[in-house]
Amino acid sequence: MDVKVGIPRALFYYQYYPLWKTFFEELNTEVVLSDYSTSKILDEGTKSCVAEACLPVKIFYGHVMNIKDKVDYLFIPRFTSISKKEYICPKFGGLPDMIRNSIKDLPPLIDTEINLRKSEKNARKAAMEIGRFFTKDERKIENAYKKALESFGEFKAKVKQGVLPSDILDKKLNVIKKSNEPELNIAVIGHVYNLYDSFINMDMIDKLRKRGAKIITVDMVEDEIIKRNAGLLPKKMFWNFGSRAYGSSLHFLEREDIDGIIYLMSFGCGVDSFVCDLAERKIRKTKDIPFIVLTLDEHSGEAGMDTRLDAFIDMIRWRYKNENNVSAYG
Ligand code: SF4
Repeated sequence: MDVKVGIPRALFYYQYYPLWKTFFEELNTEVVLSDYSTSKILDEGTKSCVAEACLPVKIFYGHVMNIKDKVDYLFIPRFTSISKKEYICPKFGGLPDMIRNSIKDLPPLIDTEINLRKSEKNARKAAMEIGRFFTKDERKIENAYKKALESFGEFKAKVKQGVLPSDILDKKLNVIKKSNEPELNIAVIGHVYNLYDSFINMDMIDKLRKRGAKIITVDMVEDEIIKRNAGLLPKKMFWNFGSRAYGSSLHFLEREDIDGIIYLMSFGCGVDSFVCDLAERKIRKTKDIPFIVLTLDEHSGEAGMDTRLDAFIDMIRWRYKNENNVSAYG
């Protein structure tokens, strides 16, 4: 029987799953995903996690609880950096230790460090280390990594063309637009795990689509554009997400076809509170474009989300109907 590797359907699952899945399957392991996020998963996570943690980390804990007894290994890499000269949120670096110290009866964790700050070639080194959990055949690991990069490249290319990762990962393509109004292009800035987990964001993406919006996210913006725009800041941003969020905000401002911008942030997230403020100031100073900030935490109510989305979309449509005196800030 194949060895089972468990991957929690949370955090960087939304960014790297095609890479991880191909890699593990090429090494003849069976990949087992936790269930989709639910209020039960969130409750379990909240009970086992420190109260100060952000919502995405609490959900991650719940996914670990959901899957830990069904697999031989749990894949929780220790992410330090995912891009050259940049860091990511330190919670990712501490995640394997936080999980080990708060959840009992875990299977062995694959907690290899992923640190691309000095060189993106370190990804290969990490892949070799992970592969050695399952085989001594270095060539086999090399091949698995090569195939994984191909799958990842295909996934990223689809996203750059405008397909949402959640549509690929959750197989939800061809969502029908329910509104009879003209389509609006709505740019949404946020972490992958907030944008594409429909439980965390209370189905925000589909709700916007039903109201006649086409969604454009940070992940669809070309890396070169992000780099160039983030480089305009007086000081280099050392957070990967920060430069992506700021760089894409500037890009959305430059585009004439964007009808409104939403910043989706996590309550209690240090990176978001800083980056959102920076992006908001730039947006408000540069262009009279409809913009709102939506904050997610475990107490957020769906009715509140619905009301804000309705008001935001109505405001955009009213402004197009010659009511430009309607405030762009909701
Ligand atoms: S970046 Fe923010 S939302 Fe993401 S894990 Fe860190 S604190 Fe949580």
